[in-house]
Amino acid sequence: MRNRDIKLHIVTDIKFKMLLLVMMYCVLLVSLTPAVETDNCDEETGTSRQGWYSEGKGSCPGRSSDPDNTANRNNMAEFPTIKSAHSLVAKHVTPEKWAKLSAHVTENSQFTLAKAIACAVDFDNQHCGIYAGDWDSYKDFAEVFDPIIQEYHGISADSTHTSDMDSSKIVGAIGADAPVKSTRIRVGRNLEGFGLSPGITKAHRLEFEGMMKTAFANLEGDLAGEYYPLTGMEEATRQQLVDDHFLFMSGDKNLQVAGMERDWPEGRGIFHNKDKTFLVWVNEEDQLRIISMQKGSNVTEVFDRLARGIKAVEESIFAACQKKFMLDPRYGYIHSCPTNLGTGMRASVHVTLPGWHKAGIDALKKRCEELGVQPRGTRGESGGHIDDTYDISNKHRLGYSEVQLVQNMIDSVNKLVEEDKAHQ
Ligand code: ADP
Ligand code: MG
Repeated sequence: MRNRDIKLHIVTDIKFKMLLLVMMYCVLLVSLTPAVETDNCDEETGTSRQGWYSEGKGSCPGRSSDPDNTANRNNMAEFPTIKSAHSLVAKHVTPEKWAKLSAHVTENSQFTLAKAIACAVDFDNQHCGIYAGDWDSYKDFAEVFDPIIQEYHGISADSTHTSDMDSSKIVGAIGADAPVKSTRIRVGRNLEGFGLSPGITKAHRLEFEGMMKTAFANLEGDLAGEYYPLTGMEEATRQQLVDDHFLFMSGDKNLQVAGMERDWPEGRGIFHNKDKTFLVWVNEEDQLRIISMQKGSNVTEVFDRLARGIKAVEESIFAACQKKFMLDPRYGYIHSCPTNLGTGMRASVHVTLPGWHKAGIDALKKRCEELGVQPRGTRGESGGHIDDTYDISNKHRLGYSEVQLVQNMIDSVNKLVEEDKAHQ
């Protein structure tokens, strides 16, 4: 090529590249336009989108006219750094799945994958690290949730869940001389149509609480009692309920980052019967935690009361609003935390184990793992281990019936108490 030809070639090349740049800019402008419309929609409802946990737009008029959720693309961010590098989230949220799912917004609570994995992203200590904001989350983000659930619970892709709350099938009991202070069994339950705690809209949370007030009023006999909302509760009363192990409290970092303490304490509360042996938490980690507890070690009595209580609450809710608990053939009762799927049940005793305490928490954890149970301290999940009294409960929730799990807890506690003597 001669010099003049080379110059001409360079000039043509530059013109072509500039034209290309202008065209790309135009395409970018067009594709960004719908994201701006989302904010208009927020303005209509009087809320502004701030970070991941701005209030969902449950009744936003613009939402249903946007079936492809293109208006919510501004929820899509770059593939995040997942601080919990060994979590199930780190393993199963791949850049490919992120590219496919991160722009999606669920219909019920406008939940996103970014919100779901917030704990794994923010903290370096998560094992699982994911929460669902509504039932839709489990379906829409199934490519992430399914493998995590299967791996966590050790179930196959086609397994199904069967519930069995028949307390008459329990064989034997915790030994009469076992140093058991108290027994507690809880299940989580969530109602179809309402979002799960990490995603539930403020409007849905309040509507749910109002509906529960009506439902509680229908409970009879030993299950009858009063509902006490957290809003307006005397501080001394609240603290006493917490100290006596009846009430949840705020401040759990996981729950906060997962979005479960938005609008605290509004819409939250506790129902209990006169003896505080039957209790229901409203709008904590799940819409409902139904609890049966009492002093001593009579697990069968506690289990029987719980079974009756769940049935009565479900029937009262149905009478009040014709809605049922979210129940999936594969995953059983739907919960905000996938580790609770299935039975949603934690059957525990507070038992004093001085021998195991001497052997150390690692030795106790290892033994509990072999037995299919889990040790906690007596101040709840995030309260740490404080003395030689431990909360021993079933480790599994999905793939086993409630009867199987309660039976295993009883048998395991008997074993731990027996072995404790050798460690003293
Ligand atoms: P959950 O799994 O129901 O969320 P947490 O570990 O958060 O349970 O504990 C909630 C409360 O229940 C805490 O105050 C805890 O001490 C209390 N609790 C758990 N098991 C028992 C038990 N067997 N007896 C008395 N209180 C209990
Ligand atoms: Mg808890």
